[in-house]
Amino acid sequence: MAEVCAKCDGMGMVVMQLADGRRVAEPCDCRHEVRVTVLMERARIPRRYQHCSFESYEPDFPGADASLMAAHLMARRFVDGYPATTEGRGLLLTGSIGVGKTHLAVGILQTLVVEKGVRGLFCDYRELLKEIQHSYNPQVLTTELEILRPVFEAEVLVLDELGAAKPTEWVWDTVAHVLNTRYNDKRTTIITTNYADAGPAMAGAAGPRAAMREETLGDRIGERMRSRLAEMCVTVQMHGADFRQKVGRARFG
Ligand code: ADP
Repeated sequence: MAEVCAKCDGMGMVVMQLADGRRVAEPCDCRHEVRVTVLMERARIPRRYQHCSFESYEPDFPGADASLMAAHLMARRFVDGYPATTEGRGLLLTGSIGVGKTHLAVGILQTLVVEKGVRGLFCDYRELLKEIQHSYNPQVLTTELEILRPVFEAEVLVLDELGAAKPTEWVWDTVAHVLNTRYNDKRTTIITTNYADAGPAMAGAAGPRAAMREETLGDRIGERMRSRLAEMCVTVQMHGADFRQKVGRARFG
């Protein structure tokens, strides 16, 4: 059986006495808690990231790169300013694997839900590609965008690991459509990517150096989308080694 709130006896309202002696009814805190619980469930944050918050993020462990502290501050400022100062612009968190990009992105999402009652959604890029593929209706040779409605309509979307897979052209066109529509509707998208926010600078170059260079975001999503993302998001670069290897090993032997 659900527990009944001791403060309001399950009524959802409490009577408060003002300084001038008047009594007014106000929504009980438990209503806020219920709303936050529902919003959190709908945000579909995977279990392995549910511990990710601003508080559990460590920006200054021994040997930490200064960019981690800057990213932490930026994330906090982003939430404080949302939505008035952010105006639909999101964040693009870039850096190598394990620097804490998803941790911070989920921290932003969870804090926005708790502090601002935002309708947010976590979406793994590879899962999104699969969802788009499944939305294809061969009978009418078109995608049923209705299935993607939550991704279009979430007030804040976390798109994790952009570029992790290379989709076919029509799937990519749908991803681009989702991102553009969200931006035009002034809906915020927070993106993480393991690829450096740079263009395919050595495209066309040959020889061993070209073969050795790491792929960039420009290589993975194309320059057109990369420059669109520069409009849609503020880039936050995070540097350093994989947190689990650096800190985890030192702590747990
Ligand atoms: P990335 O998205 O950059 O690949 P993750 O955010 O997935 O990295 O981090 C990998 C794991 O390490 C997660 O469990 C995350 O909670 C943890 N982690 C990474 N950086 C930090 C940090 N600065 N403080 C606390 N935990 C961290």
